[in-house]
Amino acid sequence: MAIQRFTKGGFGRQGGVFECGLCGRSTRITVEGQTHLCGQCDEWTMAENAINDGNYNGLPAEELAKAEASILALKRKAAKLGGDPARLGLTAEAL
Ligand SMILES: [Zn+2]
Repeated sequence: MAIQRFTKGGFGRQGGVFECGLCGRSTRITVEGQTHLCGQCDEWTMAENAINDGNYNGLPAEELAKAEASILALKRKAAKLGGDPARLGLTAEAL
């Protein structure tokens, strides 16, 4: 009888749940990305990186405003799902 030596996943913890490194909420491991972030934090940090990388330079201001609005929406969603607003940089008014 063969011994099963390798377990599936290999992403760290068993059970598929971890704490988001940003907002701190418990979330499931997604197949995408190397980071220990929840889906929302993963998305908004990418969007913010795009802004910081200058991807919106030369584009109409409304494009940047749209990106910033979607970042805020993702942060709010993360907070609603159990993330820490302070760690997400959300003020009480922004919630
Ligand atoms: Zn998060």
